[in-house]
Amino acid sequence: MIRYIEVKSRARTEFIDITGQLQEAVKNAGVRNGICHLFVLHTTAAITINEGADPAVQRDMVAFLNKLVPHDPYFTHAEGNSDAHIKSSIIGASQSVFIENTKLLLGTWQAVYFCEFDGPRHRRVALKISSDEG
Ligand code: ZN
Repeated sequence: MIRYIEVKSRARTEFIDITGQLQEAVKNAGVRNGICHLFVLHTTAAITINEGADPAVQRDMVAFLNKLVPHDPYFTHAEGNSDAHIKSSIIGASQSVFIENTKLLLGTWQAVYFCEFDGPRHRRVALKISSDEG
């Protein structure tokens, strides 16, 4: 069974903390111990796990990615969003998080982020929540 998380971005490039939504989905799945696979169903978005305490980290990551891959007229892709496609592939479309005693197993400072690179848009993340108990 595939579950979905809905994400609504508000900026062209933005990191959105989806840890709470993900934990809610795990709770609804009723899985005690297992694994949660996440997969972004878009070519201009990505998923990452990083610092959730200081919002400056997300701002710095967004600023660095925009500096690394600028929105450049040099690109030939007619849609004009090649920078977003490149950032999506750099960060990656999937992550996996272990589930231990009904909770996502994350480090103290870790959060799961949906990475928007061509917003604002309505997005979806597919989840496969599997139980160790079968
Ligand atoms: Zn495109």
